[in-house]
Amino acid sequence: MARVLCVLYPDPVDGYPPKYARDDIPTITGYANGQTAPTPKGPLGFKPGDLVGCVSGELGLRAYLEKNGHELIVTSDKDGPDSEFEKHLPDAEIVISQPFWPAYLTAERIAKAKKLKLVVTAGIGSDHTDLEAAARAHITVAEVTGSNSISVAEHVVMMILSLVRNYLPSHKIAVEGGWNIADCVERSYDVEGMHFGTIAAGRIGLAVLRRLKPFGLHLHYTDPHRLAPEVEKELDLTFHPDAESLVKAVDIVNLQMPLYPSTEHFFNEAMLAKMKRGAYLINTARGKLVERDAIVRALESGHLAGYAGDVWFPQPAPADHPWRTMPWNGMTPHISGTSLSAQARYAAGTLEILESWFDGTPIRDEYLIVDSGVLAGTGATSYKLT
Ligand code: NDP
Repeated sequence: MARVLCVLYPDPVDGYPPKYARDDIPTITGYANGQTAPTPKGPLGFKPGDLVGCVSGELGLRAYLEKNGHELIVTSDKDGPDSEFEKHLPDAEIVISQPFWPAYLTAERIAKAKKLKLVVTAGIGSDHTDLEAAARAHITVAEVTGSNSISVAEHVVMMILSLVRNYLPSHKIAVEGGWNIADCVERSYDVEGMHFGTIAAGRIGLAVLRRLKPFGLHLHYTDPHRLAPEVEKELDLTFHPDAESLVKAVDIVNLQMPLYPSTEHFFNEAMLAKMKRGAYLINTARGKLVERDAIVRALESGHLAGYAGDVWFPQPAPADHPWRTMPWNGMTPHISGTSLSAQARYAAGTLEILESWFDGTPIRDEYLIVDSGVLAGTGATSYKLT
C-alpha cells in the first residue's frame, strides 16, 4: 500500500463541477515528433474534457489507486510548515503536483520525506523539485513530456498577436463603452514581416516556429543543439549561436528553455539592453528565467513594447506582484498548459506513469527527468544540475 500525496489547484470559486462550454474535445493520439500521446491501460477515471486539475477533479486517479489498495490524499494547501502538504510529506511514497500550482520540493522538504520514491509532474517542467536533492536521495522524477506542448505553443502565438496588435487595451475600450479608434491603434502593428526568435527550440519552441510560419514572420532560434537541416530549410530558420546574438536581431523574443540553476535570471538587465527598442518578450517557460524588476523597468522606460506570459515566481503570485500592474503586460495566471484539452492528456499520462511504477515496468524514457541518482531521459537532454 502506498500513500500518494497529490497537490492540485483549488476548485472553481462557483463550485465543482463547472458547467462546461463544450460537450467533447478532439482526440489527439500522437505528437509531431512521432511520440504517442499517453497510453494508460486504464480505465480512465474521468471523461476527457473534464476539469481534473483541481482538487475535486483529483486527476481522475482515486478509483485506480483505491482499487489497488493505495491511499490518495489531495490538497491545495502546499506552502509553509503548517500546510497539509508538509503534514503528509513524511509518510508519502509518491508526490504528484502540477507546475501551475507547484508543490515546491526543496532540498529541506526532500530531507523530511524519508519514504518518498517517486515525484510526478502532471504536466511539463520539473524545476519545482530540487533535482539535485532528488537525485541524491535516489527519488525518481517523471513528467508527462509532450502532453501540453501544443497547448503552450498556441498560447504563445495568442500572446504575440495580442501584444503586437494591442488587443487587450482595445478590448478594454470596447467593454467600457468607448470607440476611440486612435487610442486603440496608436500601438497596433501587423506581425507580418517582423523578426521572431525563440530561445530554445525543443518541443514547444519548434511548435511555435511552425505555427508562426504562415504569418509571414522571419524566424530565428538558438538552442544547444541545432535542428535538422531539413527543418531549418522548411521553416527558413536563422540559427544564432547564443541568446545575445538572437535578441539583437529580432522584434519578438520567446523564452522556451527549462529552468535550472544556470538559467535562473539569465534574462537580466544586460540582456534586455541588447534588445531592439520596442521589442516584445514572451515567457511561458518559467518566471525565474528573467529578472523580475528589470522587466518592469524596461516596460516603464519604453524599451520593451510589451511583455506577456503565464509564469511567475512564486506561484501563486502575491497580489502585489509588480507584473500584475506593469504597463503593456499581457499576463495571465499559469494556465497555458492546463487547458481542459491538456488536462486530459497529462492526467492520462500520470495514470500511465503510476501503472508502470506499481506494475514494475519501465516508465517511458521520454517521461524520465531523474532516475537512479542521475538525470535521465528528457532530463538528461534538457536539464542540468548546475
Ligand atoms: P523540451 O525538453 O522539449 O525542450 C527544451 C529545450 O530547451 C531543448 O531543446 C533544450 O536543448 C533547450 N535548452 C536547454 N537549455 C538551454 C539553454 N541554456 N539555452 C537555450 N536552450 C536550452 O521542453 P518543452 O519544449 O516541452 O518545454 C520547455 C519548457 O517550457 C519546460 O521546461 C517548462 O519550463 C515550460 N513549460 C511551460 C508550460 C506552461 O504551462 N506555461 C507547460 C509546459 C512547459 P537541447 O535538448 O537541444 O539540449
